[in-house]
Formats: sequence, structure tokens, C-alpha cells
Amino acid sequence: MPDEKINLLEKRKRQVHEGGEFAMEAEKQSLAGSVSQRSCSFCGSRVVLYPIADALHMVHGPIGCASYTWDIRGSLSSGPELHRLSFSTDMQEKDVIYGGEKKLYNALIELIDEYKPKAAFIYTTCIIGVIGDDVQAIAKKVQAEKGIPVIAVDSEGFKGSKKEGYKAACDALFNIVGTDESNTPIPKSINILGDFNIAGEIWVIKDYYERMGVEVVCSISGDGRVDEIRKAGRAQLNIVQCSGSVSNLAKMLEHEYGTPMLRASYFGIEDMSKALYDVADFFDDPEMHKAAQRVIKEEVTKLVPQLAPFRKDLQGKKAAVYTGGAFKVFSLVRSLKTIGMDVVIAGSQTGSVEDYKLLAELCDPGTIILDDTNPLELAKFVKEKDVDLFIGGVKERPIAYKLGVGFCDHNHERKEALAGFIGMYNFAKEVHMSVMSPVWQFAPRRANNRK
Ligand code: SF4
Repeated sequence: MPDEKINLLEKRKRQVHEGGEFAMEAEKQSLAGSVSQRSCSFCGSRVVLYPIADALHMVHGPIGCASYTWDIRGSLSSGPELHRLSFSTDMQEKDVIYGGEKKLYNALIELIDEYKPKAAFIYTTCIIGVIGDDVQAIAKKVQAEKGIPVIAVDSEGFKGSKKEGYKAACDALFNIVGTDESNTPIPKSINILGDFNIAGEIWVIKDYYERMGVEVVCSISGDGRVDEIRKAGRAQLNIVQCSGSVSNLAKMLEHEYGTPMLRASYFGIEDMSKALYDVADFFDDPEMHKAAQRVIKEEVTKLVPQLAPFRKDLQGKKAAVYTGGAFKVFSLVRSLKTIGMDVVIAGSQTGSVEDYKLLAELCDPGTIILDDTNPLELAKFVKEKDVDLFIGGVKERPIAYKLGVGFCDHNHERKEALAGFIGMYNFAKEVHMSVMSPVWQFAPRRANNRK
């Protein structure tokens, strides 16, 4: 291994746990010289906000930033689909020199007239931060002229990792909350925060809650609507999925409206069941508790026999898991155990030391725990642990395939619903298909092992 590679792995040592006493570091700037799996602030904001289907999403910057479109992250809508269109001011050299405010203003006026959105989000990118366009002033002006919320999202890419972008998105959303005409609390109601309706997952989760007699006031942001977000302060409880993306919004709602929050994950049998029971416990309603029991019993009775054949084949196979937020990793470790697999590598882009400590406790001793890793390090551990399956997102997929390892997409690019009880079945089926595929015997890793 060349010196610089050894050097790089050496500098990352404190963000890797390989067993023994737990002493990891996290929430640090990515190491210079290594290509982190993280993405920019703008990307973080876009992930959170773009599923709002009746809003106009305007990327103020060069066209390259706007390439991050609906087609990459397929968040579904049950109604309008304005979010599927990606608009950009397409900043050119002349605009950078003379400023892009006029271009932004004209683009917003034209698009609002054409598409009649319920709100408009303006995403600022790196170059806008550099040239200093007054995006707030343009937003204010257009809002006054057009009578809809026009919100500048402070998402210049260089501000940090996507975690800073999440915060900018939450600040933007909070501008809309409370603009509803009424402020009367809605009984037995919740907001679902941090689910993006990938492959229709929010519809699955909503159905469970509604069968329990719970009203879902708004979902942020999967299948999101501006008028529902206005009402978010009237719900009695916020259910927060995804550890990083909308935690700030939940905290703001708690501070401003006194709405408590509960963390939840909808992946795997245990976590999905807990997400339903926790809501029933919160409302302290025996009927709701019975309804939750009924929903879980019906779903699990169907699911368990369906999982048995997958478990038989997958018993003892090894998995690596790497996701954006750490909360999802906990559920994935439990789900993989349900189908008989061992997790030998687990990590995330944005977890905290506390998250990794919990993860180390949840995993078997010897499991490698990784914070903010990079392709070089991931490849090294995947080879060392000889894994059969890699679960990650679009940036991890090529690493797995190049190493001759099965892959399961558990990020926003996937087209299969993996949340809820039905999602657990889909997950087991997909993992089984990938791990048991005969193609791996011809891939380099397996071929080398045969020699
Ligand atoms: S880092 Fe800057 S230039 Fe690159 S995509 Fe993000 S906002 Fe755009």
C-alpha cells in the first residue's frame, strides 16, 4: 500500500472502532485528502425540502448543482408533482461578475405565474455565497408581489456537510409553520417528521396510524403540502424519523408550540411495532393501545412465515451497513438479525459519539464501527471482513460491485418500499436475491477465494 494511503488510514483511526474499549470521535470535519461519503449543505437542504410537492424549488446557482433532481431521489406524491421539476437560474460567467439577483427575480416571477405554486424555496449554492447576492431581499420582494411564502434557504454548499443543510431546511420550514388561519389543537394527532415517501413508504406508515385512530396532520416532507405544514403546530405529538434531518424542526416546534417529540424508526419488525406502541402510550388511550396491538398482530402473523425461507438461506452471512444518519443503522442491524445475518461493519456519515456507542453495544464484539468514512477505508474493511452484502446508498453501490459483493440500496434512490411490515418483507426479499445471486461466483472476490 502506498505511503499516502497508510497515512490517511492512520489519521482516521479515532473515527473507527474495531472492538476493545470504546473511545471513538465523531462530528468532525472530514479529513482533507480523502473523498468523504458525505455531501454538501445544499444537498442536505434539498433532501429535506424537495418532496414538498406543491412548492416551487429554485436552485440559485450553476446548472451542475441542480442536477440533483427528483429522478435521483424518487419521493412520491399523491397529488401535485411540481417537485419533480428542477428549476435553476443557471448562473453563467456574466452573472457571476455582475450579480444574479435580477435573473433570480425574473425566473421566480415567470415560474410562479406559470405553475401557481403554494410556496417557493430558493436554494443558495456556493457561488451565491461568494458573490453575495441578496437572496433574502429578492425573496421578500417576490413574496410581497405574489402573495405566497417565498423562502431563501441558506444552503451554500461550502457551509459544511449536509448536516448544516438539514438545519437550513428546518429554518426554512419553520417560516411556514403557524401561518394557518386556526391555532386550535387537533385531538389525537401527530406530525410525521423525517420520512420522505420513498417508494410510497409514508402511505404505509400513515395507514397503520390511521387504523389506530390517530390523525396525521402533516408529513414533513414526504408527500408534503404547504397548507398542511402551516398546521404543524396544531398537532399534539411529533414523531421524528431519521436522526439528523429534521431534529432541528422538532426542537423548534417543541420550543415554540410545546409539542413533544418521540423518535421512531419504521424499519424492521421491532422498531415498527415500537413506533406504533409509543404513540398509543403517549396518548394513554387503552382503545388506541388495543388497536395498535391488532395492527401489529395482523401484520406480523402474515410476515413471519414469509421470512422463514429467506432466513434459512441467509443464516450466518455477513453484512456491511453504511448510511447517512446513524438511527437507521440501528434498525438495519436488528432487521439483519431477524433474517439471520451478522453485521460485521456498521457506520454513518453524520452519527454522534453517543450513536456509535449504542451501535457498538447493539452489534457483536469485533464489528467495525465507522464515522464519516471514505471509499478507500470502506473497501479495505469490506475485503478484510469478506462480507456477502453491502447496504448503503448511491455512493456505496460501486464500491460493493467492484469488490464482487451483493448490494442493497437503502437510501433515497431506491424504488422499493422498505418501511413498515411490508417493507421488512421487501427488504428480506431484496437482500436474499442479491446475496444468493449466482453472479457472485464469477466476480473477482469469489473467483480469488476459489483459487
Ligand atoms: S458544493 Fe457548492 S457547487 Fe457543489 S453542488 Fe454543493 S452547492 Fe453546488
